[in-house]
Amino acid sequence: MSKIRVTVWNEFRHEKEEPAIAEIYPKGIHGAIADFLSECDDLEIRTATLDDPDHGIPNEVLDNTDVLVWWGHMHHDKVSDDRVAYIQKRVYAGGMGFVACHSAHHSKPFRALVGATGNLSWGDDCREIVWNLKPTHPIAAGVPDHFDLELEELYAEPFYIPTPDDLIFGAWYETGHIFRAGCTFTSGAGKIFYFQPGHEACRSFYNPHVQRIIKNGVHWAAPNEFGYAISDDAPFVHPVYKRDDK
Ligand code: ZN
Repeated sequence: MSKIRVTVWNEFRHEKEEPAIAEIYPKGIHGAIADFLSECDDLEIRTATLDDPDHGIPNEVLDNTDVLVWWGHMHHDKVSDDRVAYIQKRVYAGGMGFVACHSAHHSKPFRALVGATGNLSWGDDCREIVWNLKPTHPIAAGVPDHFDLELEELYAEPFYIPTPDDLIFGAWYETGHIFRAGCTFTSGAGKIFYFQPGHEACRSFYNPHVQRIIKNGVHWAAPNEFGYAISDDAPFVHPVYKRDDK
């Protein structure tokens, strides 16, 4: 079986501008995510960042990406609309999966794909418990009924997203706030997974449960034959099965 081709995209500015963040993620957040994803033999990983030409995601890269993992925060507006449109096309028509990490809730591609602002409430970093709400879901495989994150940024409801297809993880914070921390959507032929932990000043990407969830999310979001079967020439229409009448 051919490998799932994953592109891990990171804004990669905090790590260059703030020594404290570079100390937590010396290879960048994309490097940290790529490192643990590389533990899966069936994944082929590449990375891309905002400051690369075409943000590291020219058409040729997106055409050869099965799942795009996205981390952005301060510079969502610097991502060109042209790249966002092509990501949208690859998801809608090509079935490319999209995994939105943490502050990607406000990224242009996430907002375009789910058709919502992605606005939410937030507060200072504090203790978080992630609850497994849907253990039967493939993204929850191997994840305990709950796990603790000593420090994570508080993201709280209301979270302005469409009603998710599946709500897999819920967050509780020591402040009493709650959040839909892990949810899935479908858009055209593509699958989208949003997952909240992953603030740049915290160490969540080193947490084994977070790693497992993102690995699961990448595998779940990969296109099936249905996704591959759809022509890239018809990006914004619903796919129609052609009957074989012979
Ligand atoms: Zn954050």
